Amino acid sequence: MAGPAATVPGNPAPAPGAYGLFPARADEDAFVGGTWEELAPRAHGVALWGGLIFGAGALADYLMAGPDASWGLLMAVRALVLAVGLRLAWVTRRASPADPGRLRTWMPVFQLALLLGQRAVVQLHGSASSYQAIAAVMACLIIYTYAPMVRPLQLWMMPAWVALATVQMLTVIPTPPRTVLLFLMILGFVNIVGWRLATHNNRYQRAAWLDRRRLQWEVAERVSAEQNLRHLFEASPVPLVLAGQRRGQLLHLNRAALDLLDPRRLLPDPSQLSAHDFYADTHTGHMLNRALAHHEAFGPVDMRVRDSSQRVLDVMVSARKLRYDGHRAVLASLVEITHRKRHEHELRRLAHTDPLTALHNRRGFFARAEHARRQCAPAPLALLALDVDLFKTINDNHGHAVGDIVLQQLAGRMAAVLREQDLLARIGGEEFAALLPGVGGAQALETAERVRRAVCDHAVRCQGLRLQLSVSVGVALLECEDDAIDDALARADEAMYRAKQAGRNCVELQLEPAVRATAPISRIAGAGRLAG
Ligand code: GH3
Ligand code: MG
Ligand code: MG
Repeated sequence: MAGPAATVPGNPAPAPGAYGLFPARADEDAFVGGTWEELAPRAHGVALWGGLIFGAGALADYLMAGPDASWGLLMAVRALVLAVGLRLAWVTRRASPADPGRLRTWMPVFQLALLLGQRAVVQLHGSASSYQAIAAVMACLIIYTYAPMVRPLQLWMMPAWVALATVQMLTVIPTPPRTVLLFLMILGFVNIVGWRLATHNNRYQRAAWLDRRRLQWEVAERVSAEQNLRHLFEASPVPLVLAGQRRGQLLHLNRAALDLLDPRRLLPDPSQLSAHDFYADTHTGHMLNRALAHHEAFGPVDMRVRDSSQRVLDVMVSARKLRYDGHRAVLASLVEITHRKRHEHELRRLAHTDPLTALHNRRGFFARAEHARRQCAPAPLALLALDVDLFKTINDNHGHAVGDIVLQQLAGRMAAVLREQDLLARIGGEEFAALLPGVGGAQALETAERVRRAVCDHAVRCQGLRLQLSVSVGVALLECEDDAIDDALARADEAMYRAKQAGRNCVELQLEPAVRATAPISRIAGAGRLAG
């Protein structure tokens, strides 16, 4: 595609000038080279047939005039024109130009030889004026409209030739002045029209060639840009997937995507699959479809996919709709975040877990409690606030380590008498809380009592000691849907303090709203004694 200045972006394209030709020779050569397939056959036809027909005229000369004195000269003229014609036919015989400049040389030379040769024949041989007129019109038409114009000289040859013919008509061929005038009028008209047609054709052909070159250049640019994108797509360390928008059929996966989704190369032909085959759950697919239905691009969002060996991976996905090969498609980038997710999950678990008892801590309790509340609504929900009685004496008498073991054992006992769906947490030093979803007043009191008894019914055995412990329990119920968990826990706490005041080792229910902050209304267990 090495071409002229016209094809180099940034350089102004040459404009056809006078006669419809490019002013610069390099541009003309480039034009001839670029349109050779069209110009060469025309020049070839004109040269071959023009040369042969003119050469064959020698036979007519012989038959009509016989070998007279001028016959040898006539033969020489015709042979010369034939030779030049064959030379031009030889130059233009190839499908591609050996040297475009040769057409610029030989085309005008042949035209000149033919025109002058014809005048020479008339000069030597004479002719009829009607034959002269017909031959001149034919020659003008063919040269102006069919023969390739590559030099201004070719245009100027025609009026000069007509002028020469007129002179010959007046001198060599006996022609009446009226006929000469008619000849001049017709040939003048043919020349004017031919000249305009030729320059228009030249300009049109060159403009069309420039357009073609520009288009070729643009196509080449596009192809190279697409190839660059393809290389980029392939070489990207980020897994990239191109999928059809409607059915999700995989159109293209780069190497990184194959390494992620088919690391052991188990899939024979991933392009036979759909993106849906890799979603770890239906939620993922629905989320994607919804997002794509409303947005041109979305993400990054966290998703779960399944690789070819059914391993579930966490990925961060960003996607954009685009057109690929005439189809609506989606380009998605997937960044694997399985390790990060695991890490995050572990951090969250640690932040929500009490390391001593492995129960939820205060933060974990509130995080889960809100969720449980939403889940069980509109069913009732109860909260227990539990505080180990006189726990300080355990630490004081037996040491902190024993206190720790006691806390662990108490946590186990309390959990054992709760249901699986109940949420038990250690929310302070020796303070626990329990959330009982779907549990109303009476059942809550029963559960609280069960927990209280689980603590005090048997002594805790630890390092050879038998430690008698008890727990005071406050019970609160979620009063309405808007009631917050921490408000309910505060009420349970309040009830628990009343249980302490009542002598410990007992259960107290929260006060009714109307009488809250007055005397306790429900006490179902009496004060217990702590045995050390
Ligand atoms: P009350 O019946 O009024 O609740 O008396 P109490 O002794 O249980 O209450 P207090 O608040 O005076 O003491 C709580 C004690 O719990 C104080 C602290 O040393 C102990 N404690 C808090 N956290 C831990 C812990 O993680 N391990 C141990 N061994 N003891 C703890
Ligand atoms: Mg306490
Ligand atoms: Mg206590």
